[in-house]
Amino acid sequence: MEKIIDEYKQGESLILEAKENNQRKLFIESYGCAMNFSDSEIVASILANEGFNTTQNLEDADLVLVNTCSIRDKAEQTIRKRLEKYNAVKKINPKMKVGVLGCMAERLKEKFLEEEKIVDLVVGPDAYKDLPNLIAEVEDGRNAVNVILSKEETYADISPIRLNSNGVTAFVSITRGCDNMCTFCVVPFTRGRERSRNPQSILEEVNDLWNKGYKEITLLGQNVDSYLWYGGGLKKDFVKASEIQQATAINFSKLLDLCAQAQPKMRIRFSTSNPQDMSLDVIKTMAKHNNICNYIHLPVQSGSNRILKEMNRQHTREEYFELIDNIKRIIPDCTISHDLIVGFPTETEEDHQDTLSLMEYVKYSFGYMFTYSERPGTLAERKMKDDIPEAVKKRRFNDILQLQQKHSLYRTQQDLGKIVEVLIEKESKKSSAHWSGRNEHNTVVVFPKENYKIGDFVNVKANECTSATLIGEAVGLSNNN
Ligand code: SF4
Repeated sequence: MEKIIDEYKQGESLILEAKENNQRKLFIESYGCAMNFSDSEIVASILANEGFNTTQNLEDADLVLVNTCSIRDKAEQTIRKRLEKYNAVKKINPKMKVGVLGCMAERLKEKFLEEEKIVDLVVGPDAYKDLPNLIAEVEDGRNAVNVILSKEETYADISPIRLNSNGVTAFVSITRGCDNMCTFCVVPFTRGRERSRNPQSILEEVNDLWNKGYKEITLLGQNVDSYLWYGGGLKKDFVKASEIQQATAINFSKLLDLCAQAQPKMRIRFSTSNPQDMSLDVIKTMAKHNNICNYIHLPVQSGSNRILKEMNRQHTREEYFELIDNIKRIIPDCTISHDLIVGFPTETEEDHQDTLSLMEYVKYSFGYMFTYSERPGTLAERKMKDDIPEAVKKRRFNDILQLQQKHSLYRTQQDLGKIVEVLIEKESKKSSAHWSGRNEHNTVVVFPKENYKIGDFVNVKANECTSATLIGEAVGLSNNN
C-alpha cells in the first residue's frame, strides 16, 4: 500500500502544479443523487490531469459536461432543457464540446447523439477513466461513446477534486451499482452490478479529508448496507471467494467502525440504506461511536405488503417495523427519513392507507416523496400497466406530503429547548447575520454568527422551529472542535 500513498501525494502536487498550468476550461454540472455529485468530483480529478481547470462560467468553457439522472422522466426532461441552453451558448462559444455523463447517458447510449445534436460525447458511470481518449476522439472531429459497465471499477485510485465545496463536508463513495432489481428502478441498468471499494483507499480519503480541515463525511452508495470487501470483484461472487477471503471480509458495520476509529472527531453519516440489507451490527456500531450521527435514511417506498411484493422489495411492512423498533431500542433518539412512491401500478386505496399508517407508526423526520414515474427497461414498465390516474396520484401525493409535514414538525419540536451540537456549513440563506448548519439528526439549525466560523462545532440552544429548521442562539463551542 505504501506505493499508492506516494502516488497520491505526487499526483496531488502534480495536480496542483498542473492545475496552475492548466489552460483548458471544464464546466461540469450534476443532477440527481449524491453519487452523481461525487462522480463529478472524480471526473474533475481525471481531467485536471489532462490540463483542465474547472470554471463556473459556461461561456468560457472548452468542455461542458453534464452529469445526468434518469430516475424519473422529469429528471431527463430537465437535462434536455439544459442541452437547449448549451445550444444557445454554443452560438457565442462555438469551440465548446458537450458531453453527457451518468445514468441518462448509460440508458440512452448512442441514441443520445441522434436525439440531441449538440452532444459530442456520451460516457457511462463506469467509463470516466476513458474520458481523455474520448475527448481526443471528439477533438479529431468524431463523436465518442463509452457506456461499458464494469465489474471492478470503483475509482479507488482517483483522489476527487471537491467541487462547489464548503470545505467542511464531503462525500466518500464506498460502493457502486445495485443488485436489488426493484421493479420500478433504472439504477441496476444504468450503474451495473454491486461492487465495493477497497477499505484502505476509503480510509486514506477520510484521513486526507481530515488533514485538509473537513469535519464531516457521508459514506455513499446506492445501498451502503450491502458493502462487502473481500479483495475486489462483484458482491454476487462472494460465495465463490476462498475461505480466508470470506473469513476476513469487511462488511458495512466493520467499515463504519474503521472510519469512526480512524478519525474520532470526524462526523460520519452514510446514505443510502436498504431495509432488507441493514444489519443489527450497523445499528450497534452507530451506538458505539459518538462521531457517527444518529440519523438513518431508510427508504421504504410503500407501506403495503402487496405493493412491496410488486416492487420486489425483499421485506414486509412487519419486518420494516421490526427494524424501526430495533433502531429505537438501540438508539432511542435516532431520526429516520424515507423515500416513498405513490401511484405504483395497481395501488388501491387500501394500499395507500397502509402507507399512511406506516408513516404514522414511524413518524419520520423527513422524506423524499414521488408519484410513480414509469422508467423504460424496468420490469414494471415491461410487465405492469401504469394504471393509476394522474389525479389520483396527485391526491395521494398530497396526502403523504401533508402527513409528512405534520410529522416533521413533531420531530423538530422534540429538540426545542435542548442544546444541540451544530457543525457550521454556510451563511443562512435568509440572513447574512446568521450561520446555518446541521445537528447530528440532519436538522438544519440557524443562529446568529457572533465570532463563530464555518467548520466550528457549536452548541446551540434551540428556541424556535419550523417543520424543517431549528432557530436558536449559540451557547459556546462544543468539545468536538
Ligand atoms: S435498492 Fe432498489 S431503488 Fe435502490 S438503487 Fe437499488 S434497485 Fe434502485
